[in-house]
Amino acid sequence: MSTPQFYDEGDLVAVLTTQPLDRALDYKAPEGGCHLGAFVEVPLGPRKVLGVVWGPGKGDYDRARIRSVIRVLDAAPMREELRDFLRRAADYTLTPMPAMLRLATRAPGLGDPPSMRKIYRRGTGEPRRLTDARARVLETLAGYGDLSFTLRELAEMAGVTPSVVKGLVEQGAVAEEDSPRDLPFARLDPSLPGKDLTPDQAAGAAQLAAAVGTQSYGTTLLRGVTGSGKTEVYLEAVAAALAAGRQALVLLPEIALTAEFLTRVVERFGAKPAEWHSGATMTERRRIWRMVGQGQAQLVIGARSALFLPFQNLGLIVVDEEHDTSYKQEEGVLYNARDMAVLRASIAGSHVVLASATPSLESWANAQAGKYTRLELTSRFGPAVMPQMRAIDMRTEGLPSDAWVSPTLKAEVDRRLELGEQSMLFINRRGYAPITLCRACGHQIGCDHCDARMVEHRFLKRLVCHQCGESKPMPEACPSCAAEGKLAPVGPGVERLGEEAARLFPQARIATLSSDLYGSARALKAEIEGIAQGAADIIIGTQLVAKGHNFPKLTLVGVIDADLGLQGSDLRAAERTFQLMRQVAGRAGRADKPGTALLQTYQPDHPVIRSILAGDEEGFWSAEAKERSQAGVPPYGRMAGIILSAPDAALAFDTGNMLARQDGPLRAIGAQVFGPAPAPIARVRGRHRVRLLVKADKAAPLQDALARWIGQVRVKGDLRLAVDIDPQSF
Ligand code: ADP
Ligand code: ZN
Repeated sequence: MSTPQFYDEGDLVAVLTTQPLDRALDYKAPEGGCHLGAFVEVPLGPRKVLGVVWGPGKGDYDRARIRSVIRVLDAAPMREELRDFLRRAADYTLTPMPAMLRLATRAPGLGDPPSMRKIYRRGTGEPRRLTDARARVLETLAGYGDLSFTLRELAEMAGVTPSVVKGLVEQGAVAEEDSPRDLPFARLDPSLPGKDLTPDQAAGAAQLAAAVGTQSYGTTLLRGVTGSGKTEVYLEAVAAALAAGRQALVLLPEIALTAEFLTRVVERFGAKPAEWHSGATMTERRRIWRMVGQGQAQLVIGARSALFLPFQNLGLIVVDEEHDTSYKQEEGVLYNARDMAVLRASIAGSHVVLASATPSLESWANAQAGKYTRLELTSRFGPAVMPQMRAIDMRTEGLPSDAWVSPTLKAEVDRRLELGEQSMLFINRRGYAPITLCRACGHQIGCDHCDARMVEHRFLKRLVCHQCGESKPMPEACPSCAAEGKLAPVGPGVERLGEEAARLFPQARIATLSSDLYGSARALKAEIEGIAQGAADIIIGTQLVAKGHNFPKLTLVGVIDADLGLQGSDLRAAERTFQLMRQVAGRAGRADKPGTALLQTYQPDHPVIRSILAGDEEGFWSAEAKERSQAGVPPYGRMAGIILSAPDAALAFDTGNMLARQDGPLRAIGAQVFGPAPAPIARVRGRHRVRLLVKADKAAPLQDALARWIGQVRVKGDLRLAVDIDPQSF
């Protein structure tokens, strides 16, 4: 590895900060000089801000007025590879560089002074002479049990100078230790024996290991039904990367980061990997960020933001459940972690494994086109076979209103209860009921700030807006006509389905799994682990349960409303429904018992429902590909959304109309613009949102044209403009 370029004291350097400025600013290198990529603190007006040395200064300012870098921070300089990734990700998503840099500097305490490197706790020795000041330090420590503090914290709490604490350290009365942020991770050992792989799995593992061994970029689409052993196979790719002395990153949808998964990693490599997710503590994040940067964390298991960690020598990125829509970040910087993983890997010379039972059409098309290598695991591990899938034709079930479990489904659940097997009832709706209706005046309670209905959450005893999170107590009287006692729930949510199940199956142990019902991700994980051990007979859940959990005793899955995703005009609806139904069905019959999946539907002849039932994936994908390519939409064409939002709908619409008229830069590349129209989420937190959709040929230079086009609007005052490349819905 080459050492980065060095700037001597007084040299002009350009420093990129996370402040919303449109360029990197010139500073003088500090005393002692600094490296290209160094994390620094610089003065900006009256403030000190964090920045990264981005290159040589431009020198187009009055040299006398240029200020100096205040100090170089205690962190390895950002490598060329990561800076390049940020630049290219910014170009692709049309994101300003400062916002991009923010994603890569989200480690808390990056600007920690060197004093943060040590922590202090009560030692075993006694001070030789107990002055007042020394006594205060020891009393302070005694009051906090086994906690430790930084030097400054401890001195401040005790009301002494740091030298008093240092004196106690010399005498052994206070112990000085390395801060946990500098604790390395235990070594993972890739040479431990893995499981005995089936011939199919072994061939796949060998193929991936060889790809990782080339130490150059490539992407493999690893497709295999749920339970076929995709995880076992890609863990061998991880082993290959570690054995070659390179780092590996496994991305999972946030919720799939379970203890069960970690246990498997520990079994394979003999030690725990670094876990980067929203629930991690500050200290842990600080530690991971630093250790990844020093190459001391060999394997990171993380949610999408782990892509921006400062890997030194990244050999492999796995994106598990690559089709999962939660990889798309929908706020702030709009990016799809799956696509950004491929970009980062192509710059770092790493291999990418995209794993899924039901790949996104984008990845499927890339594999068809030969850009990705295909790897298929065709059978489930061991005796487990894919569940039998059948439709329940709801038109003939004679179900009363306010009931959702058909007699046919009930009989199947009863049978599982007798056999001591688990059943799952799946409904993709959180809360108690999606609509709260006044039976006196017909009013439906909506959110005051969004264009969405309020959803009753009986467990919380509140109405909640799923768009903006706003909630209010369930009212007694109708907010529109003031009639009392007339508000009624309409339609089922997961909580209400739980009630119905309790009525239908009074003897059963029922577990309702929905993110709302658990205070923390940790509590939810604990519940899921309990269920896997057999602590419930019936599992009722939302999309949460469709993701990557192993329930060995589960043999029946009942989908309450298979038609739910097919409504609406979204061109991706069919793909979503297909993936979700296959994933849910894949929960059943994982161990030695065959499973059954029953889909309650009012449209058993719908082409999507039919291909789900037939299990004809290739057929489904080809048909879907044909439709999309005829429409010229992704992955066969390119799309971008421009979202204009303002408290005043007219301002957003007027700006949208102006853009639609001045479409010269788009026409120049043969792109079309549609809209403005209300965005899929038309009002959020009191802001009206208007969307323009741009459609272009696959080869057209879309980003350039978009930049020129939106450059015509001055975004000021209450107006906001966001670019959404490759929008999720179109
Ligand atoms: P997928 O990721 O495709 O859903 P997994 O890798 O999770 O599949 O495998 C499903 C289950 O089968 C897991 O419990 C796993 O430990 C087990 N399994 C898969 N392959 C093997 C093998 N070769 N030896 C032992 N157990 C295996
Ligand atoms: Zn709202």
